[in-house]
Amino acid sequence: MTANIARWIDDRASTDPGLPAIRQGELLLGYGELADASARCATLLAGKGVRAGDRVALTMPNVAWFPVVYHAILRLGAVVVPMNPLLRSREIVHAWSDSGARVAVVFALFAEEAAAAAASTGTEVVVVAPGAFEDELAALEPTPGVVDREADDTAVILYTSGTTGTPKGAELTHDNLSTNVAAVVETLTHMTTEDVVFGGLPLFHSFGQTVGLNSAMQAGACLTLLPRFDGAEALEVVQRDRVTIFLGVPTMYTALLAVADKEGYDTSSLRLAISGGASLPLEVLNRVQRTFGFQLLEGYGLSETSPVASFNHPDAEARPGSIGTPIRGCEFRLVDEDGHDVAEGEVGEIAIRGENVMRGYWQDPEATAEMVRDGWFRSGDLARRDADGYYYIVDRVKDMILRNGFNVYPREVEEVLYSHPDVTEAAVFGVPHPEHGEEVAAKVTLREGATVTAEELREWVKAQVAPYKYPRTVSFGVLPKGPTGKILKREISVEE
Ligand code: AMP
Repeated sequence: MTANIARWIDDRASTDPGLPAIRQGELLLGYGELADASARCATLLAGKGVRAGDRVALTMPNVAWFPVVYHAILRLGAVVVPMNPLLRSREIVHAWSDSGARVAVVFALFAEEAAAAAASTGTEVVVVAPGAFEDELAALEPTPGVVDREADDTAVILYTSGTTGTPKGAELTHDNLSTNVAAVVETLTHMTTEDVVFGGLPLFHSFGQTVGLNSAMQAGACLTLLPRFDGAEALEVVQRDRVTIFLGVPTMYTALLAVADKEGYDTSSLRLAISGGASLPLEVLNRVQRTFGFQLLEGYGLSETSPVASFNHPDAEARPGSIGTPIRGCEFRLVDEDGHDVAEGEVGEIAIRGENVMRGYWQDPEATAEMVRDGWFRSGDLARRDADGYYYIVDRVKDMILRNGFNVYPREVEEVLYSHPDVTEAAVFGVPHPEHGEEVAAKVTLREGATVTAEELREWVKAQVAPYKYPRTVSFGVLPKGPTGKILKREISVEE
């Protein structure tokens, strides 16, 4: 497999131009059309002065223009800086000026915020307005071929906040991404030209970008995009497009379970579903497999690891509740704060080494040195390993609650809450306490029509865990979520 990820669609277009590549509702682009549109878009960007090595920001929801522009940037040997469309101008300014992006390609819906940012950074904004942009490209000649890149040239910079602070740019090389894609395609999904991959995860984020877009393009599969995730619409897409591989974060699976007439959809085309990005509660895993009849496998990773680092490999025994074993070419250690291996069976921080680990944070050697020590990337996630080498995330280092000197791992308590039939989502977090240092609190979302009280839920957990672990307060409501659907615990703990 060539390391230059820009070549994938061209190679496929030359042998199978009519093969479906991208679908968005009624719109279907074959590999030939996708390659042609991105080659024309490359001409447009080259006209704005974009050259190999330049950074180009990309702000786009999950629409067919995303892969067109993404590949146009890569064709020129330039670096894609994908941005969350919901960022406000202050945050945009940070990413644009930090990455030194001279040009930003922005979907029309987000043009106003981008213009405000451009006023202070001087970045040239190319607005993609559906219809008009098509006409603009049609008038241009396609740029032939793809600029050569070395395997360790940077392909993408992903801005990620990690655990704290201002977002930093994780620099992923062509080699990082192509080895990760190779592992996904060859060992995790066995993806082929027959596959239809569900594209509901945001493409600006590493999970949707590598496992959705890039893996599909490498394998010659079709990616079917859903611009705004919604459980019922997702099931509709699965049924309409005969989706074979579903990708989602846990809250997307809870959304599928919450669809009232979920059994009414034909999901028989699905052969595999993958969860990642956050802990998949056992109860959700079981309910999904029972309701829809497909296998749901959990993996784990971070933007900094391209992202996939471990997985419940389909050819091995799946261990529900575990994040599986490290992927091909990737090693894990469990370490303490000083970087020493913890004793067998103990909880430690996952440190990761492999070709999928980023080159570093863009122009930030200090932050890189703090996170990557002796070639081992410190994930910030605490885990335990069983005798067969399967890893179990217990929590993020930062989410652990310290109550009276005892460690409480929220995930364990959340599992108990999820096992209550009235609970659809749960978050457990620490709140400051004058005597105990921190106290355990929970916020949950209930199933429609549920009548369980806070006191009953408290007792439900109390009966099943050690006394220092159960939540002293339980509140109800909608849980705040980030753009990828991850539950934002820190926002809740501030609210409560
Ligand atoms: P991001 O860089 O946005 O992809 O976030 C990476 C973080 O997501 C990791 O450090 C973990 O805390 C979390 N994460 C990813 N996959 C899992 C998983 N399967 N179980 C628990 N946490 C996960």
